Amino acid sequence: ILAACGQDAGTDVDNQEDKVEASDDTDEKEFKIGLSIPDLTLERWQHDRDHFVQTAEELGATVLVQSANSDEANQLSQIQNMISQGIDALVIIAINSDALIPAVEQAKAEGIPVLAYDRLINNVEIDAYVSFDNIKVGEMQAEGVLAEKSSGKFFMLGGSPTDFTAKLVREGQMNIVQPLVDSGEIEVIGDQWAKNWDASEAMAIIENTLTVNKDDIDAIVASNDSTAGGAIQALAGQGLAGKVAVSGQDADLAAVQRIVEGTQSMTVYKPIKELAVQSANAAVALAKGEKVEGDGSINNGVMDVPFLKLDIVLVNADNVIETVIKDGFHTYDDVYKNVP
Ligand code: BGC
Repeated sequence: ILAACGQDAGTDVDNQEDKVEASDDTDEKEFKIGLSIPDLTLERWQHDRDHFVQTAEELGATVLVQSANSDEANQLSQIQNMISQGIDALVIIAINSDALIPAVEQAKAEGIPVLAYDRLINNVEIDAYVSFDNIKVGEMQAEGVLAEKSSGKFFMLGGSPTDFTAKLVREGQMNIVQPLVDSGEIEVIGDQWAKNWDASEAMAIIENTLTVNKDDIDAIVASNDSTAGGAIQALAGQGLAGKVAVSGQDADLAAVQRIVEGTQSMTVYKPIKELAVQSANAAVALAKGEKVEGDGSINNGVMDVPFLKLDIVLVNADNVIETVIKDGFHTYDDVYKNVP
């Protein structure tokens, strides 16, 4: 139980004594956890927040939640502010992990454990990473698109260039696409990344691509549902929605609706509740001074970080009912409401 005291070493002695007293009975201490979210406009992060807070509260912790509105400087100062409010564990969904290194170092220096949620934080010591197999996400996206268009002109639409997850996703996409480029079946006609995974940015990128390529395009390997949504809007503007294969990720309601309507080929369903529940459990354990064991580990440049890796599911028009609807992620009526 007193492992927490060891972790707090390095702060001043008085403080340490306070902590020793406080942790004499860890069950009675109310733990405070800071949760830093990139932005709440995207549907998934609202689910993440709700499940995380609910589970942490059930475990007797309180959660300070801050959303940074997609602004990395804002995220840095929000985290510094949480640290000054005396949190016992810090959970971060990083916009740009490089920009957060000073805050993570500060937290660690103050004995506050740090958990990287969904997105890995590189080049600094952290305590745990809870996420999905993001390389597998990218592989599923490429395979999902190829199931519809097995060759031709492909556009690679990346996520946020500052999000490490976007790079893992791209690595997975290329594991599948590159051999087909080498064999001449696929021609990659463009590769661009959408800042902050922004739908309007994705739309502008694809509008431009359609103009340059005179609408001659077979598939868009889009890295998530918000960028897929922007791309499909651009395609619709040229009467091409449903004719070009498009991938996604997150199983956002709008994306699942597009799948059953036939304008998006697939998405990747990542059980958000499980991610949030496991992260909340891990964060509370860390707050109590316990260590988190991963299913494996991932190197972040300075250490092997314990990695809790969760499973993902490919969703297309054939299995919407037995995946996202069966799991209660969306209702049948919501998904099919635009389908005659
Ligand atoms: C997440 C995706 C999400 C994206 C945009 C990524 O880090 O893994 O699920 O769509 O961020 O917020």
